[in-house]
Amino acid sequence: MTKRVVLIGHPVAHSLSGAMQQAAFDDQGVDAAYELWDRAPIVLPDAIAEIRGDDFLGANVTIPHKERVVPLVDKLTEEAQATGAVNTITREGRRLVGHNTDVPGFKVALDGLVGRQKMPRTAIVLGAGGGARAVVYGLIREGFQRIVVFNRHLHRAEAMVKHFGRSASHMELRAMPGHESIIEAELGKTKILVNATSIGLSADESPIPAEILPPELLVLDLIYNRTHLLRDAQAAGATVADGELMLLHQGAAAFTLWTGLPAPVDVMQRALSAARSEGVRSAEGEPAGEPEATAAGAGTATGGPSAG
Ligand code: NDP
Repeated sequence: MTKRVVLIGHPVAHSLSGAMQQAAFDDQGVDAAYELWDRAPIVLPDAIAEIRGDDFLGANVTIPHKERVVPLVDKLTEEAQATGAVNTITREGRRLVGHNTDVPGFKVALDGLVGRQKMPRTAIVLGAGGGARAVVYGLIREGFQRIVVFNRHLHRAEAMVKHFGRSASHMELRAMPGHESIIEAELGKTKILVNATSIGLSADESPIPAEILPPELLVLDLIYNRTHLLRDAQAAGATVADGELMLLHQGAAAFTLWTGLPAPVDVMQRALSAARSEGVRSAEGEPAGEPEATAAGAGTATGGPSAG
């Protein structure tokens, strides 16, 4: 019987994950099909109940469900518990286990961005959704000493900071209102800027005005494309990377969780590139247009050491 793996999100009209995971199943001889399920929040519990069936290997969870799905599974891994967000589900019989493979995916992306430099200790994170939780957790675990979070709705950033209270007790983790003057002042004190909002995903917009981006910054955009922010930062002289490595490595970790097999990362990378060159859009990070625009240019860190 062909097993099923589903991506649950809203919307998930097209997906780079589908191309990447199906290529991995086919390459490894796993008889499984990756399906896209567009499910509004109100029917999320029904979708989660459905994947308890024997024909499912598991699921991916994406925008906007990563936090909402937490109380719907039976068990959480340490990373899912710590972040309060789930992006991958596996089955143990009829019980569902929630994992967060965005955390290891972000680690690969961060290492690729920093390269041979000393790992910085200060960061600004834009956003407070499921992706931002993986980022903040990854930065805390990496030993960052100061992280400032800006989010459109300040209360959500404050809730995230509160969530990390105990694990961040040894360092400074703060939510701040996103006024331009405050962001500019903070940019002057930080080394890393991570965009974990969806600004730039479906429209060519940037969360930060170009003129306040300092040249010595390292900028990671979780969106899998050469976004407005990345173009501005690169023009300012910053080192930039997009969400490709994170997408690839969260997917590789999920593949291993479902199948118990090492992920064919090269095959998955090629499938991602092919899907992008065909203009496939992704719930996980690719806006419309510029399908080939993510290729690393001068000064970019995209395609870092762990890409293969
Ligand atoms: P969520 O829906 O959980 O969070 C969305 C975030 O974006 C919130 O902080 C939200 O702010 C903010 N936001 C959305 N629209 C606007 C807007 N118009 N103006 C200001 N802020 C806005 O999504 P995720 O955290 O799951 O994903 C966020 C981004 O990260 C997406 O672009 C996603 O593609 C990318 N991502 C990429 C991954 C990868 O593997 N490369 C992995 C995970 C995420 P508010 O709280 O105020 O609504």
